[in-house]
Amino acid sequence: MSIEEMVESYLGDGTLPDLPDRHFIAGDWAAPVNGGRMETFDAGAARPFHVVAAGDAADVDRAVAAAERVQRAWGRTKPSERGAILMRAAALLRQEAARFAFAESLDSGKPLQEAEGDVAGAARAFEYYSGAADKIEGGTFPVGSDHIAYSLPEPMGVTAHIIPWNFPISTAARGIAPALAAGCTVVAKPADTTPLTMLMLAELLVRAGLPTGVCNVVTGTGPDAGAPLVAHPGVRHVTFTGSVPTGIGVMQAAARNVASVVLELGGKSPVIVFEDADLDAAADGVIGAIFENAGQICSAGSRLIVSRAVHGEMVARVVQKAQAIEMGHGLRRPALGPLNSDAHLGRVRSAVESALSRGRRATIGGTVATDPVTNAGWFFAPTIFDDVPADDALVQDEIFGPVLSVQVAEDEAHALQLANCTDYGLVAGIYTADFGRAHRLARDVDAGQVYLNEYFAGGIEVPFGGNRRSGFGREKGFAAVRNYLRIKGVAGRIG
Ligand code: NAD
Repeated sequence: MSIEEMVESYLGDGTLPDLPDRHFIAGDWAAPVNGGRMETFDAGAARPFHVVAAGDAADVDRAVAAAERVQRAWGRTKPSERGAILMRAAALLRQEAARFAFAESLDSGKPLQEAEGDVAGAARAFEYYSGAADKIEGGTFPVGSDHIAYSLPEPMGVTAHIIPWNFPISTAARGIAPALAAGCTVVAKPADTTPLTMLMLAELLVRAGLPTGVCNVVTGTGPDAGAPLVAHPGVRHVTFTGSVPTGIGVMQAAARNVASVVLELGGKSPVIVFEDADLDAAADGVIGAIFENAGQICSAGSRLIVSRAVHGEMVARVVQKAQAIEMGHGLRRPALGPLNSDAHLGRVRSAVESALSRGRRATIGGTVATDPVTNAGWFFAPTIFDDVPADDALVQDEIFGPVLSVQVAEDEAHALQLANCTDYGLVAGIYTADFGRAHRLARDVDAGQVYLNEYFAGGIEVPFGGNRRSGFGREKGFAAVRNYLRIKGVAGRIG
C-alpha cells in the first residue's frame, strides 16, 4: 500500500494498516504479563486511534532475561556478520519507509514529510553503524620487549534505551544501531505516547537476520516500565533522552547498579545572527530551528540572538515567514503539526501564559489553535517574543514548543555572553560571513555541537550531545560506539 493510500484510508474512514499492539520479547510479540493496556493518540485530531501493551516490572524482567540469554553469543558473533545484519536492516527500513513514516506521523503528530525524513535518517544510522562493526579496534602498549600489552574492546552487555516521543525512530536508531554494532543486546522502552515505530523496528531487525532476543521492546509508562528497566541489575548501560528531572532519576537508578549512562536532556539553544550574515539564509534557518516538529526538538533554536544593527529587519523577516506557516493534521503534510499530547500542550500553554502575565508581549501567536480543516487537535500557534531580558524564564527555561525568544546583542562579546547565559549547553547556531568570528565563537560557545551558517547541518557522522544540564556523553558518529564498549587491558611476560 502506498503512503497516500494509507493516509486516504485513515483520514477517510479511520482504517489503519496493521500496527503492533504487544511487547516484542525474544523475537516474538508478547502480551503483557499483567494484562495492562493503554491508548495511543492521534494528536492532530485529539483522539485515541490504537491500543498497546502497558507493561510493568514483570515484562521488563522477561525482556532483560531474554537479552541476557543471548548476550554472550551476540557479543561473539563475527563483527562483519553483525554489520551485515545492520546493513540489511537499513535496506528493509528504506523498502518499508511508507509504513514506518505513516505510523510515526500518526503517533507523534509530526508532519508526514518530517516523519519520512526521520525514517530515512534512521536507515542512514543503520548503514553508518553497519560499517563500524568491524572497525572496533584495540591497541598495543609499549611495555618493553620482554612483555606484551594490548587492549580488547568488549561489549558492555545488556543496554537499556529510553526513547522520547519527539523523534521516536531517529532516537531509537541512533542508540540501538551502535549498541548492536558493538555486540550489545538491547531492551528499549519507547515513550508511552509514541510506542509504534520502536516495536516495528525490533520486528524488522529479526527479519534482517538479528538473532531473537538481541533487541527487545517493552511499552508502557515511564514510572511503570521505564523505571524498572533503568534500575534492573541485569542492565549494564542506559541511554536516555528526555527531560532533566527524569534524567537525574535515571542516573540515580543506574548508579545503584554502577551502570553507565548517556543523558541527552534538551536545551535552550541560541541562533546567533550577525549584521554581516546572509539574512535570507538566517531567517530560513531560524524558522526551521524553532518550528520544525513544532519546536519539540532538544536542539531547537529557541533563542534568536541578533545584532542590534539588523534586529528590526531580522525580526520582521522571521515574523513574516512565521505568519505564513500553515498548520494542520500531520498526515496532510502541513508546515506545522500539533504538539504530541494534551499534557504537553498544557505545558507549552502555561509557559506562554505565565510570560504574558509577567508583561512580556508576543509579537505573534501566544495562543492554542486547532486544525483548520477539522477544528480539532492539540496545536499551538507559532509564537515570537521580541527583546526578552536574559533573566526571563522565556530565555532560561526549555518550553519544547513553537515559541521563539529574541535577544539583542551589542557586539560579538555580548552575543557570546547571551549565548552562554542559560544552564543548558546543547547546540548553538552562528550566522556570519566572518570566518574568524564563526570559528572564535565555535570555540568559545558552551555547546556540544555548533552549526555554522546552516542550522541542523551535519548528520549521523557528527558527534552530538550536551554540556551542563543538557547532559553528557555523545551519540552519533564513531563516538557513540564507545558508549557500548568496555576496554580490557591484557599484559604479560613473554621473554
Ligand atoms: P520524560 O523525560 O518524562 O520522558 C522521556 C522518556 O522517559 C519517556 O520514554 C518516558 O516514558 C521515560 N520515563 C519517564 N519517567 C521515567 C522513569 N522514572 N524512569 C525511566 N524512564 C522514564 O519527558 P516528558 O514528560 O515526556 O516531557 C517533558 C519535557 O521533557 C518536555 O517538555 C521537554 O522539555 C523534555 N523532553 C526532552 C526531550 C529531548 O529530546 N531531550 C525529549 C522529550 C521530552
